[in-house]
Amino acid sequence: MNLVYLDYAATTPVAAEVAQVMAQHLTLEGNFANPASRSHRFGWQAEEAVESARIAVAKLIGASNREIVWTSGATESNNLAIKGVLEGFESGHVITSSIEHKAILDTCDYMAGKGFEITYLKPGEEGLISPEQVKQALRPNTRLVSLMLVNNEIGNVTDIKAVSKVLSNHDALLHCDAAQGTGKLEIDVADLGVDLMSICAHKMYGPKGIGALYVRKSPEVKVYQQIHGGGHERGMRSGTLATHQIVGFAKAAELVMANLEAEIAHSLILRDKLWAGLEVIGGIERNSHGTQCSPNHLNVSFSGVDGEILLASLAQLAVSSGSACNSASVAPSYVLKALGVADELAHAGIRFSVGRYTTEADIDFALAEVERVLAALR
Ligand SMILES: *Cc1c(COP(=O)(O)O)cnc(C)c1O
Repeated sequence: MNLVYLDYAATTPVAAEVAQVMAQHLTLEGNFANPASRSHRFGWQAEEAVESARIAVAKLIGASNREIVWTSGATESNNLAIKGVLEGFESGHVITSSIEHKAILDTCDYMAGKGFEITYLKPGEEGLISPEQVKQALRPNTRLVSLMLVNNEIGNVTDIKAVSKVLSNHDALLHCDAAQGTGKLEIDVADLGVDLMSICAHKMYGPKGIGALYVRKSPEVKVYQQIHGGGHERGMRSGTLATHQIVGFAKAAELVMANLEAEIAHSLILRDKLWAGLEVIGGIERNSHGTQCSPNHLNVSFSGVDGEILLASLAQLAVSSGSACNSASVAPSYVLKALGVADELAHAGIRFSVGRYTTEADIDFALAEVERVLAALR
């Protein structure tokens, strides 16, 4: 049976070059030691690998190596950013949006339980959060604004740079969840004007279980550690560093940097071919923004069919309804709901996401499958 993977926004396969580097940092013959071991050459070599990786990952987002804190992924980075900043305050206000990833929403809910006031901005019909909304929501005691760069479900891109301008005369810090942005957009923390940024490896052909939090150095942003013990990562995140994961992340970052333009072009061609084909089939609404959108995302809703039956019938396509983290529940996507998509259409929303290994033939197959299934169901 032909199976086509069109769920690159959920995770990507690890690039062969990445797997190879990782394998060299595991076994006795390899660079396996604890990077925190200071008393022998094994440890120094591992530390060296971790530190050159830090430079590579920093470079991917225009940061300096001293601004990178290794974490287990973007979920942890988001937790560290929000809890770690707010711990410096007894109370205060936070601005985020209702279409953030659950790692932001659930963390903000948790902080609401600790007495912080949270404003969840709602996107307009276009599915965008505007800088103007942030401006309106700002209060004297706003401590933190946390908005995503690229929405994981629909791919829409937030104008973070404009948001940072709104905050230029305010003490509030700006955190950006950029887990879906690396490898799809050119990212420069200084240009965006962010104080904190979450990234991870597994959405860009690196391994799962490794991420980073960018913490601006000058002026210094204070982040209180959330995982205690050992004082690794300049006291911001304890735990023995996972050398193999870290070098894998760095290799993935290098590959992305070397080929970003070509990768964007590749994704755009395939994503637009997919949309062109779907438009011809008809009765399909595009939920993703037409222009302000990541090149690899296409979220659409199918009219006249039941969402769950549709997804089950498209068994030969690996696509996603809602986000992967929510696919256990049958509630319509909260992101599509927030966009004002009607219940029925929100239920029949599907995210297609292409990537490095997607081919024209994959898209042809996907279109043929959608057409076949829709003809049977409608
Ligand atoms: C995938 C994703 C996360 C979670 O990242 P993990 O590394 O899987 O913990 C957070 N935010 C967004 C926008 C994501 O797409």
